[in-house]
Amino acid sequence: MTVVAIDGPGGAGKSTVARALAERLGVERLDTGAMYRALALAALRRSIPADDEARLAVLARSMRLQVGDRVVLDDEDVSAAIRGEDVDAVVSVVAAHPLVREELVARQRAWVAERGSGVVEGRDIASVVLPCADLKVYLTADPAERARRRATDCRAAAARPAGTRGADVGEVLEAIGRRDAFDTGRSVSPLVVADGAVVVDSTGRSVDDIVDELWGLL
Ligand code: C5P
Repeated sequence: MTVVAIDGPGGAGKSTVARALAERLGVERLDTGAMYRALALAALRRSIPADDEARLAVLARSMRLQVGDRVVLDDEDVSAAIRGEDVDAVVSVVAAHPLVREELVARQRAWVAERGSGVVEGRDIASVVLPCADLKVYLTADPAERARRRATDCRAAAARPAGTRGADVGEVLEAIGRRDAFDTGRSVSPLVVADGAVVVDSTGRSVDDIVDELWGLL
């Protein structure tokens, strides 16, 4: 029964490391960013403005959402759609509302309570969602490397050819910089290094190397 919390800015390698560590531990992984993204997508489709906290909270409570290898929102596979530029542009604003977080944090805790174990990744997992996790990790990387990784993720998600709009490293660097600043500066559950968290810099390191380090800390 092991619970691991991994936080950090966009493109630090959280998803890749969380997936590999979960596999090694034989537990499931929860990508909480995908939950905020799914809500942002559902709001965009209903033309609910990103600053309308009350309507977003109602939507958060009513949406049926499964987050695993695929992300399924109200029976539709939205795994690719939640990685679009339209979602990137609004997700941090959607995620900053206390009533939205209340609902999604409750779902995240229920996910862990049902399983008794898991690797959970996000921004506030060690600080707010699971402060009693067995291992708390703050994963970071050099901004240029984070932008390169995110640009590659975008291309993979949307199957765009290299160099086309949306996958330009400079643009991605700017966009993740904006989102990081917003996530770090917000008053509710900002991105922070939680008490007791180990800071791991993934720049230039292989996934196996990082997973070995985390394994050794458990
Ligand atoms: O991890 P990802 O980049 O997919 O997360 C998208 C956004 O969701 C983040 O920029 C952040 O605003 C929000 N988020 C959050 N709390 C989490 C996970 C993600 O506020 N635990």
